[in-house]
Amino acid sequence: MTATPLEELRNKLRTYVSENGLRHTQERYRILEIAYNARRVFTPEVLYELAQEEGLQVSRATVYNTLTLFERSGIVLRLPSPGTMYQYLMTFQAEQSPLLFCTQCAEFSTYYRKSVKAILAEKELRPPRFTHEHAIICLYGICNKCKKSAEAQKRAIEREKAKKKKK
Ligand SMILES: [Zn+2]
Repeated sequence: MTATPLEELRNKLRTYVSENGLRHTQERYRILEIAYNARRVFTPEVLYELAQEEGLQVSRATVYNTLTLFERSGIVLRLPSPGTMYQYLMTFQAEQSPLLFCTQCAEFSTYYRKSVKAILAEKELRPPRFTHEHAIICLYGICNKCKKSAEAQKRAIEREKAKKKKK
């Protein structure tokens, strides 16, 4: 039987904790499960809140430290989200599809047409003399919601201008 993605992540964490002489605390594995089940981009604060909802008695500091550990072991990726709080995603999820980041509302969304792995399978996209372990593809721009509200705002300003001219 093959290991489920969650089991694989548990093994990855176990290996990392052992290799770095850290303690195998139960909390770390519970936080891993919660992050895994979130199935979305999350901030440390969101992860903390999810842990609370699950009835896990951990401090914010524990959640933040555990997240750093996940990041070092390659379990999660800190996403490049300029101008906002740190946002994270499970590495395996980041490889499932390209990410879109709206620089107006600072929200991530995903784009499902092709997985990152499939995109990087193209020979021309594989750099020579470099073995990549994981990857994200992130497009920066403006989401439709923000675009529409920016356009509406522009129209409103133009209407105001026109009114003033008439007076
Ligand atoms: Zn937006």
